[in-house]
Amino acid sequence: KSFGEIEMCEALNENIKRRKYVKPTPIQRHAIPIVMAGRDLMACAQTGSGKTAAFCFPIISRILRDRFEQVVSGRNGARTRIAYPTALILSPTRELSCQIHDEAKKFAYQTGVKAVVAYGGAPIAQQLYNLEKGVDILVATPGRLVDMIERERVSLKMIKYLALDEADRMLDMGFEHQIRKIVQQMDMPPPGTRQTMLFSATFPDDIQRLASDFLSNYIFLTV
Ligand code: AMP
Repeated sequence: KSFGEIEMCEALNENIKRRKYVKPTPIQRHAIPIVMAGRDLMACAQTGSGKTAAFCFPIISRILRDRFEQVVSGRNGARTRIAYPTALILSPTRELSCQIHDEAKKFAYQTGVKAVVAYGGAPIAQQLYNLEKGVDILVATPGRLVDMIERERVSLKMIKYLALDEADRMLDMGFEHQIRKIVQQMDMPPPGTRQTMLFSATFPDDIQRLASDFLSNYIFLTV
């Protein structure tokens, strides 16, 4: 199966061609249709498996589809200085967040979908400025994101798509408390409006618990 045969937005397929990704990797082949169908997903995937695209592609595609539906129904977003991303990708480190951000930017090219990155250990001012200019997909490390939420510079009330990448590493690094705090920020009625993807290389008990707390009626994928 090629990327063209997976139901995604045309603009995204153009970018995939431009980047010369011809054949989906196994995780992409299985995960993309599940996410496109609106299901929650818990996936076992290692670095190098192509997992970044496995969650970035369907998130970009679904944001574009939602946008079209919003235009059709004539709704307008309010303009404020608080950033309201619709997708959040949490990752354990600055390096990984930057990699995901780079990949998201390349594939969102000329689609109007905007990705912004936020991570700790660097001045917050530039990151806040980038958020103010508008954001659809926020890629963030947990600590920096909690800081931004506490400063009331970002709200997670509009999050429809949440991806947790390398969840086992995030727990190993002691981020469980922050992650739970972050997810609490977006639990608003009606339930089931948020779609969640959890990626992890291993599935110890604490990851299983995260999955049962954050995902609903999810599909378990191991490649
Ligand atoms: P990841 O596992 O997401 O870190 O991806 C590993 C590397 O594989 C990255 O350099 C990606 O750009 C590349 N990659 C991911 N998916 C594909 C694909 N379908 N075709 C070719 N390269 C890919």
